[in-house]
Amino acid sequence: MPTIHKFDTVIIGAGGAGLMAALHASRSVSTAVVSKLYPTRSHTGAAQGGIAAALANMEPDSWEWHMFDTIKGGDYLVDQDAAEVLARDAIEAVIELEHMGLPFDRTPEGRIEQRRFGGHTANFGERPVMRSCKAADRTGHMILQTLYQQCIKNKVNFYDEFFVADLIMDAGACVGCVAIEIATGEIHIFHAKSVVVASGGFGKIFKVTSNAHTLTGDAVAAVWRRGLPLQDMEFYQFHPTGIYKMGILLSEAARGEGAVLINGKGERFMEHYAPTVKDLAPRDMISQYIQTEIRAGRGVNGSDYVHMDFRPETINRYRSGPGGRVVTAEHISKTLPDITDFVRVYMGIDPLREPVPIQPTAHYAMGGIPTDNDTRVLDANGRAVPGLYAAGECACVSVHGANRLGTNSLVDLVVFGRRGGRAAAEYAKSAAFGSLPAEPHAEVTAELEQLRNASGSERPAQLRAELQTTMTDLVGVFRNEQGMQQALAKIAELKQRYSDVRIDDRGKIFNSELLETFEVGCLLDVAEATAASALRRTESRGGHSREDFPKRSDTNWLKHTLVSRSAGSGAKPTPAGATLNFGDRPVRLGRFEPKERKY
Ligand SMILES: Cc1cc2nc3c(=O)[nH]c(=O)nc-3n(C[C@H](O)[C@H](O)[C@H](O)COP(=O)(O)OP(=O)(O)OC[C@H]3O[C@@H](n4cnc5c(N)ncnc54)[C@H](O)[C@@H]3O)c2cc1C
Repeated sequence: MPTIHKFDTVIIGAGGAGLMAALHASRSVSTAVVSKLYPTRSHTGAAQGGIAAALANMEPDSWEWHMFDTIKGGDYLVDQDAAEVLARDAIEAVIELEHMGLPFDRTPEGRIEQRRFGGHTANFGERPVMRSCKAADRTGHMILQTLYQQCIKNKVNFYDEFFVADLIMDAGACVGCVAIEIATGEIHIFHAKSVVVASGGFGKIFKVTSNAHTLTGDAVAAVWRRGLPLQDMEFYQFHPTGIYKMGILLSEAARGEGAVLINGKGERFMEHYAPTVKDLAPRDMISQYIQTEIRAGRGVNGSDYVHMDFRPETINRYRSGPGGRVVTAEHISKTLPDITDFVRVYMGIDPLREPVPIQPTAHYAMGGIPTDNDTRVLDANGRAVPGLYAAGECACVSVHGANRLGTNSLVDLVVFGRRGGRAAAEYAKSAAFGSLPAEPHAEVTAELEQLRNASGSERPAQLRAELQTTMTDLVGVFRNEQGMQQALAKIAELKQRYSDVRIDDRGKIFNSELLETFEVGCLLDVAEATAASALRRTESRGGHSREDFPKRSDTNWLKHTLVSRSAGSGAKPTPAGATLNFGDRPVRLGRFEPKERKY
């Protein structure tokens, strides 16, 4: 029999969103965090560039400018009341982190130092503004360490290296989750009054990605497998500057410090595309322009990459350093220690002496589990699912719309993680424990047993590799109908083959092969939701750029996409060929009228 645990609030995931939620929930109710990774290994720890807040420590700034930039950056698909919450609360949230002891970089006067980042501007688009608060290029690492310490201090109960495979629902309410203890293979049931999903992104549906190996969308798939919708899945962000072929991220902070993009003809091509902010335009646009340069034969040596140049002499030649100041090699080394090291380690070149080959890399899911501004998960009719909350990259509030601005995810984690923790705790205080269905783990157990003992002919790693190549090639920076039809046919084929897998490890202890196979099933579901939503949206907006529909169409498409599945078990991929249900939700507009984006 599985072990049963009982907590008022259970949080799935120990990244920035999960830990912030845990910290706030644990102030008033019993709280557990269930995480497949040891908390400080979560991907938040890889965040480099910074966290946005209009502190105005370096130059004039205001939360209203931040709100506007977020909405414009998201190509007007952002819910404007949510963007207001993000931009307003960012200031207080960063100060809360500061008071917890987060070691931010400081100005000589002792204020939090800030730097420029793509799409963040002063006075509604006039010029780049310094809004990103940072700890060198290790901001996420510092956030994660700080929050984890605070959670320990607050006696949050941690279940580290527990893999959540399913949600437990009772009469339409969420009453807990089913998890596998990775060390033993034993099943655990977490019975809760409220559950916060904070499981991060799913970049591993792509081949070239900045995301960690673990970002496989399991809990997003769990929500979807319980018949709930996912929102705006077609909007996946490609970050312009991944290390060529490897996808490892070279933060936008590099361009914030003055680095420029150069094509094969030696031109700073962003001057033509975005004359005001140049290399600091939003990511969706820069990724599309890089691809356009490459397609026009202007990649370096005619190849499929361009250069990012952060040599001080180049930065000074273009006067692209912060505030047009002269930049030295020491300054670059001090402000970008990790990413300059990544270039040395992974490419074997010194970025202070040579330009670095880069290409767009799959980076961030704007879409995910739909929620309201209090992180309550919404069903296909827009009603809150009792007891179920979501925050962080897995959620779609939606503050990022069709394209997220750099440094706005870390803000999202702390602002909505905090709201999620508080809302889930409030709910738990007034609600009774729902009843557990008989054998809530039955479907997970059956699926794991089947995978463990199957003697099929397919290797899960092969299926994963084929999925990733398909998504990168056919549902990447540019998309078209034919390519996406092909991608969906391939996903259906991979689903068939998934039912014929074989693994070698039939044991229970640390069976990572088994869990990785389960993850492949989740990737297939999340990729299908992404490709199907992308095929349906016949316009180009933000990160969704269609060759066959190159224009944005506010008349037809100024609305969110909802997609859900109609059939299947709680622990298995949607059957190949099953019909998906689509719906729409209006975008909540406000004071900023949708306009054409110019930078
Ligand atoms: C290389 C890189 C650099 C970035 N730099 C920046 C930046 O400078 N600024 C910025 O704003 N954003 C940045 N981002 C984006 C940002 O870091 C992420 O969007 C954000 O950290 C996600 O946080 P999260 O709390 O939602 O999830 P994560 O930090 O990814 O944590 C997910 C958690 O969920 C748990 N989990 C997942 N699946 C399961 C399961 N099945 N069972 C149990 N637990 C599970 C994991 O164990 C983990 O604890 C960057 C992203 C990357 C990849």
